[in-house]
Amino acid sequence: MQKTMIVTGGGRGIGAAVARLAASQGYAVCVNYLRNAQAADALVREIAESGGKAIAVQADVGIQAQAARLFEAVDAQLGTADVLVNNAGLLGSRLVAEMDEDELDRVFRANVYSMFFCSREAVRRMSTRLGGKGGAIVNLSSVASRLGGLAGGSHYAATKGAIDSFSLALAKEVGAEGIRVNAVRPGLIRTDIHAVHGGPDKLEALGRTTPLGRTGTAEEVAQTVLWLASPQASYVHSAVLDVAGGR
Ligand code: NAP
Repeated sequence: MQKTMIVTGGGRGIGAAVARLAASQGYAVCVNYLRNAQAADALVREIAESGGKAIAVQADVGIQAQAARLFEAVDAQLGTADVLVNNAGLLGSRLVAEMDEDELDRVFRANVYSMFFCSREAVRRMSTRLGGKGGAIVNLSSVASRLGGLAGGSHYAATKGAIDSFSLALAKEVGAEGIRVNAVRPGLIRTDIHAVHGGPDKLEALGRTTPLGRTGTAEEVAQTVLWLASPQASYVHSAVLDVAGGR
């Protein structure tokens, strides 16, 4: 039986690398996106051309009803999800002295509310207590949760701290119901997310200051996500794994 994976924010960056690797390993993949339909559609075409199975579904996963609609689309088109990768996220850049409610809403909704809404849908379908056949959830946190983030990133860091705690709590809640829950904390990874604070040049300069002396790639993060989702990680539960080059 082909397994199904939902990757939130799967059209670009780390999510796209996860979706691509998952498809190459035989998963049917749902590539969720917010606005960039072009990137998500191109990835779905690329996966189909390589013999894989994928669909693109637009949904703002920070809104409960849209997260529910995403899972309904997957139920109908691919079958119940076996793996959820909570990857969608935003980086904000705002000093605390300039912070306002709109900016907090924007970042907490995309990074934290999305985890609750999508995990809720996943647990309702996967939990053996509720008649499901189990599954795995992998949450994308960040080393910002323990380092405090880059300048102006207090709210981003706070959302990632929340994700670490949420992952531990969810693991306790649903471990005995056949659902493994783990989190990955990437470090400095080359994606578009860094546009808000200096872009690629600043990112590469920061990368040179890390113990491995370089930034990481989305593919390197994807390898860890796929391993955590796989049967090879069957006794790995409630782990928060750094993929950060020693930073
Ligand atoms: P990215 O390249 O900016 O991609 C973000 C993706 O999330 C996009 O596909 C975007 O959709 C989607 N998205 C954002 N808000 C969404 C929402 N409300 N609903 C649905 N999709 C939404 O980011 P990335 O670097 O790959 O980051 C992926 C995850 O890794 C994030 O959680 C991020 O915090 C975490 N992370 C990244 C780094 C890094 O250095 N890159 C480090 C630590 C942690 P559209 O394509 O439609 O815009």
